[in-house]
Amino acid sequence: MLVGTLNNRKEALNTLNIDNIRAEFPILDQDINGKKLVYFDNAATTQKPQVVIDAISNYYTGYNSNIHRGVHHLAEKATSAFELSRKTIKEFINAESTEEIIFTYGTTDGINLVAQTYGRSFLKAGDEIIISTMEHHSNIVPWQMLCEEKGCVLKVIPINDEGDILFDEYKKLLSEKTKIVSVVYASNALGTVNPIAEIIEEAHKVGAVTLVDAAQAMSHIDIDVQALDIDFLCFSAHKLYGPTGMGALYGKKELLNKMPPWRGGGEMIKEVTFEKTTYNELPYKFEAGTPNIADVIGITAAIDYVNKLGKKNIADYENELLEYATERFEAISGLKIIGRAKVKVSVLSFVIDGIHPQDIGVLLDQQGIAIRTGHHCTQPLMQRLDLVGTSRASFAVYNTKGEIDRMVEGIEKAKRFLL
Ligand code: PLP
Repeated sequence: MLVGTLNNRKEALNTLNIDNIRAEFPILDQDINGKKLVYFDNAATTQKPQVVIDAISNYYTGYNSNIHRGVHHLAEKATSAFELSRKTIKEFINAESTEEIIFTYGTTDGINLVAQTYGRSFLKAGDEIIISTMEHHSNIVPWQMLCEEKGCVLKVIPINDEGDILFDEYKKLLSEKTKIVSVVYASNALGTVNPIAEIIEEAHKVGAVTLVDAAQAMSHIDIDVQALDIDFLCFSAHKLYGPTGMGALYGKKELLNKMPPWRGGGEMIKEVTFEKTTYNELPYKFEAGTPNIADVIGITAAIDYVNKLGKKNIADYENELLEYATERFEAISGLKIIGRAKVKVSVLSFVIDGIHPQDIGVLLDQQGIAIRTGHHCTQPLMQRLDLVGTSRASFAVYNTKGEIDRMVEGIEKAKRFLL
C-alpha cells in the first residue's frame, strides 16, 4: 500500500494542474544532450519554483541587511522576514512555539547538534543509541562519533528483504539502557515509510528520547510533531522545493532548554565578559553567527508553495506516479526493484542483471534523464542487501507519466547497448 488512498489520488489528479506547475520551475524548460530534461533526482534535491528564487533574490536586491541588532529600516524588514520563516515552519509541523525551531544547515547539521549537545551532556558509557539499518550516513556517523567519545553502544534495528524494519526485533533492542532512538521517517534509498508513531511510542516506554530524520518525509507526509510526540526532528529545505544548505531542527522546549549551546559566537550570547559568558534564550542559544538569511527567507516561500498545492495532493499525485512507474518497471526483463516496503514515498530503486548502476545513470543522462546511482549515502544498507548500489528514480510534483515512459524507453535502450 502506498501513502494515500485511491480516492485521494483521483482527487489529486483533478486538483493539480501539472502543466501549470511545471511552468513554475524554470530549470525544467531546457534540453540536456539534445533531449528535454527529465529530472528524477528529487530525493537528492528538488528543483525550485520561481517564487522561491524570487524570494531569495528580492532579499538581496531589496532589503539585504544583517538581522536582529539593527534599528534601521532594512534590518527590521530582514529580521521580520527571517523570523516569519520560523513561524512558518512552526505551523507547518505544528510545533508548540517558535522557540522550538532552530535554523540549521540541514538535516545533517541538526542531527550533529543533538548528538553534540544532548548526547554529550546526558549520555554516559554503556548507554545505548538505536538507529535502523536503512539510515543515511547523516544519522549514523554523528552517533558513532558520540559513542567513540562517551563509550556508548550503537544498536541497529534489522530489516527484512522488502525493506521494512523488523518491529519485534526493535522491541527486543529496547531497554532501560536505551537513551536515544534516532530513525529515518522515509528512506532515501528504498522509499520505505517507517511506522514512526509506533517507534516513538515504544521508545518512550523505556524513557528514551527520539529523533526523527524527516529529510525525505517532509515533502511527502504531513508531520505533526505534537501528535506524534516527537522529541527532535530534523529536515532540509532543499528537499522541499527550498534552498540548499538550510533546514531546521525541532526540539521540545524542555529538552532544548536543558541542553548546552554548541557553537559559540555572536547572537547565541546574553552577556560576554572575559571571565564568564551567559547564553541567549531559545532559539537563539543554538544560532551562533550571522545566519544564512536569504535562504531562511526562501523557506517561507517554499512552504507557502507546498501549502498552496496541498501536501496531500502532492503526495497523492506522486503515489500515482510511483504506482505507474512500478508497474512499468516490473515489465522490464532483468530489472529488479529494490525496496518493496508496505508503505513507500515516491522513490524507486532498482538494479538490472549484468549492468552496473552507474552505467545506467550515464546512458540515461545521454538521453537527458537525470537519476541517481550508487549507495545513496546508505552503505550499511547496501551491505545488508548485498548490493554495490542501485539506480534510483525519485518523483516530485512536476514529474509526469510521459517522463516515466521516456525512462522506460531509455532503460531498454541502455540494455540493448550494454548487454
Ligand atoms: N537523511 C536522509 C534520509 C537524506 O535523504 C538526506 C539527504 O539525502 C540526509 C539525511 C542529509 O540531508 P542534508 O545533506 O541536507 O543534510
